[in-house]
Amino acid sequence: MKTQDYIQREDKFGAHNYHPLPVVLDRGEGVFVWDVEGEKYFDFLSAYSAVNQGHCNPKIIKALTDQAGKLTLTSRAFYNDVLGEFEEYVTKYFGYDKVLPMNSGAEGDETAIKLCRKWAYEKKGIADNEAKIIVCEGNFHGRTITIISMSTDPDSYKGFGPYTPGFITVPYNDTEALAKALEDPNVAGFLVEPIQGEAGVYVPDDGYLSKAFEMCKAKNVLFIADEVQTGIARTGKLLACDHEGVRPDILILGKALSGGVYPVSAVLADDDIMLTIKPGEHGSTYGGNPLAAKVAIAALEVIEEEGLADHAEKLGILFRSELEKINHPMITLVRGKGLLNAIIIEPKDGKTAWDVCVALKENGLLAKPTHEHIIRFAPPLVITEEQIMESIAIISKTIREF
Ligand code: PLP
Repeated sequence: MKTQDYIQREDKFGAHNYHPLPVVLDRGEGVFVWDVEGEKYFDFLSAYSAVNQGHCNPKIIKALTDQAGKLTLTSRAFYNDVLGEFEEYVTKYFGYDKVLPMNSGAEGDETAIKLCRKWAYEKKGIADNEAKIIVCEGNFHGRTITIISMSTDPDSYKGFGPYTPGFITVPYNDTEALAKALEDPNVAGFLVEPIQGEAGVYVPDDGYLSKAFEMCKAKNVLFIADEVQTGIARTGKLLACDHEGVRPDILILGKALSGGVYPVSAVLADDDIMLTIKPGEHGSTYGGNPLAAKVAIAALEVIEEEGLADHAEKLGILFRSELEKINHPMITLVRGKGLLNAIIIEPKDGKTAWDVCVALKENGLLAKPTHEHIIRFAPPLVITEEQIMESIAIISKTIREF
């Protein structure tokens, strides 16, 4: 079969809920992926920052295969011998009392919302069903009904109502608007992405997160950080909140928690919050299974052993400064932190960010537009300095073709 055959088969039998670039991949290793025709590409999406540790990282794959032959799923009806090991490891790693394991990022966000509401009724003393959570314009937290109810992007929410109530929306990076919203005594939490990834890598002003955190503290409101995309070394620190010394009350992780090997997400909090959820009140058949537990431990070990946070910080600075040097009218802005970066594309002769991504693919680099005019660049964090320079040469050559 050729590329077109694979694409046509997906088109015929799969739901049309994605619009992929026309490339069919069948292999990955480190920063590279190969298509079914044998062409090799730099992967500059890393499965939306899930593959931070590089494709098929040998240590993570070994953890997966070793555990796969032993025990994969028990459900939480019984104990298993690995979950506790993961729970101890991950709570010490991030410095929290407790963890609640789930699978997808969206489930992590749903868990955090439930946890926040439960805390609101049991600890803060908000009247039943009155708790509110403040969210930000341009947010992306996943695709469930409750999560799209918080969305301000019509592509996400339009046509899927009725929506879940209980959210107040404020502009991102705006502490004045946040202060006003925090005056409502029924506010229980503030849910925020430290950098808005899907919205187009919007980096808030320095001091925004720490100020917002202080304001939440003053009102006994939980600061909930969705670090599903920004967490696990992507932005040059273990967590993007670490750039401002903020320790969220509730921390949501996903994606790179498994290095792209298996769906693993987790919510971390201290006892006074986490223990408000009692047996039978929340869970998931696959959440906390032994396979996920082993994979996640290995994925976090790789981050530490390979010093990927510092590496992302260093190469991010290099990458942005080299992008700036391309100096082409189609690139109107370069922004990002660590190795989570984006360029804003000014359309030229009807050519948009999508056309640039197709051309990048032809030149051996895979990236995906977000919101028509933005291209996100987020390679696996194991990329070397030399590979960054090769990628810059590809991006520069491609842009000059327009
Ligand atoms: N939260 C953020 C910040 C994300 O970027 C994403 C996915 O891109 C999600 C949540 C949802 O994760 P998942 O697709 O695993 O449900």
